[in-house]
Amino acid sequence: MSDFLTSDNLFGLVTGAYIVAGLLFIGALAGLSRHETAKLGNLAGMAGMGLALLATLLLAAQKAEIARERSFAVTLLLVLLMMAAGAAVGAWRARTVEMTGMPELVAMLHSFVGLAAVLVGINSYLELDGHADAAHDVEVFVGVFIGAVTFTGSVVAWAKLSGRMSSAPLTLPGRHLLNLAVIVASVLLMAWFVALDGELALGLVPLLAMTVLALLLGFHLVAAIGGGDMPVVVSMLNSYSGWAAAAAGFMLGNDLLIITGALVGSSGAILSYIMCKAMNRSFISVIAGGFGSDGGQAGGSDRDYGEHREIQADGVAELLANASSVVITPGYGMAVAQAQYPVAEMTRKLREKGVEVRFGIHPVAGRLPGHMNVLLAEAKVPYDIVLEMDEINDDFPDTDVVLVIGANDTVNPAALEEPGSPIAGMPVLEVWNARDVVVFKRSMATGYAGVQNPLFFKENTQMLFGDAKDRVTEIVAALG
Ligand code: NDP
Repeated sequence: MSDFLTSDNLFGLVTGAYIVAGLLFIGALAGLSRHETAKLGNLAGMAGMGLALLATLLLAAQKAEIARERSFAVTLLLVLLMMAAGAAVGAWRARTVEMTGMPELVAMLHSFVGLAAVLVGINSYLELDGHADAAHDVEVFVGVFIGAVTFTGSVVAWAKLSGRMSSAPLTLPGRHLLNLAVIVASVLLMAWFVALDGELALGLVPLLAMTVLALLLGFHLVAAIGGGDMPVVVSMLNSYSGWAAAAAGFMLGNDLLIITGALVGSSGAILSYIMCKAMNRSFISVIAGGFGSDGGQAGGSDRDYGEHREIQADGVAELLANASSVVITPGYGMAVAQAQYPVAEMTRKLREKGVEVRFGIHPVAGRLPGHMNVLLAEAKVPYDIVLEMDEINDDFPDTDVVLVIGANDTVNPAALEEPGSPIAGMPVLEVWNARDVVVFKRSMATGYAGVQNPLFFKENTQMLFGDAKDRVTEIVAALG
């Protein structure tokens, strides 16, 4: 270790690096808020994280050496080895994950943050032999609580999203009271924990008892949430994981972790709020859990909506060629089929023929926020024709043809017309107001929320069955 680094210089440098990294994170969020600057935002985030990791690593190695625990080089080596192992697994997962599997992956990653906060909290209690001041005790207790809720909540979200657990809400009798009881019990345990100064072994009793309760609370909160509402849960857990990281920052006395955690926590909360508004749900009921399960009955699937009509690809090509305005509303099925490339090609051809083509994107189309925008950008669809639901909903009555490509819940009129439907009240793309609607899907199966879709049976709707990519490719060919 050089003289330069053993001196106080290192602490100064680390503080400076933390400030720069914090600014880069803020720049990353700013960049990610617009398509055009999203790449730059990502780069800023990566640079900030690289800098933060380097600074923290040097700081940890330095502290271990000062405390005569390990030499600087050994700490570096040990941490780098662990980082290399983690990076190898992370890089492999990131490379192999399908875009449609992203929400599960994100949920799983949130669970790691939660678990880390629990372990850091318990460790930081043990390290001080139970002799911390009251403020630190509260930090540890709250940090472990948030971490434990985040951990099991995220594991359940992962299991639901990946189909390992039923997406139906778990509705225990008196579930809100159960949640409240856990919170009250945790507050009482915290009072006991803080009062037990200096009694290491005894202090572990309230700490671990609360950990078990919080693990159960996390499980119960997310298990109580119905399938159609999972997008908000993913972003809410994102927010929880941020607060868990901020709590770990307090416990470790690491300012950057506090800043980063607060950024993630508040941006996740803002995103959850925006999504709640988009789905017409109450933010408070999401935080309280049990969201999306009240008042819903199983989707009216037994109801007879009549017969559906079918169309073939060349028929759709003809409809399109004779149209002057077309709106495409993509959904999860476009992602599954990877149909965005032929869709972009079809858009280009139609625009060349003078047809006005625009895209209408529902805020929860696909399986994660922004899913459709990313796919369309990847296929080089111009940003200015990709509109949000609110921007396009009033234009459907003046639209000749709407192509619903692999979307289902997000274009379901039952949300507006059937108060008993599990998706009742969710704003949807009102595609049925257009002159002609073509729905691309493989069968008459329901979408993610498991609700039948009366759109398929409307007089102006025709079904184009088959894989969306194959069908759009056929239309492109027929357009000449
Ligand atoms: P849906 O899941 O409602 O519908 C997708 C449709 O695509 C299905 O009906 C399916 O029908 C069809 N499909 C699947 N594969 C193909 C294929 N290869 N070719 C053609 N069609 C295909 O999707 P939406 O995007 O409309 O709605 C999103 C739903 O997901 C909402 O309920 C939302 O709440 C939920 N969700 C959203 C998240 C987000 O953050 N955006 C996160 C988690 C959930 P078929 O099987 O007959 O082909």
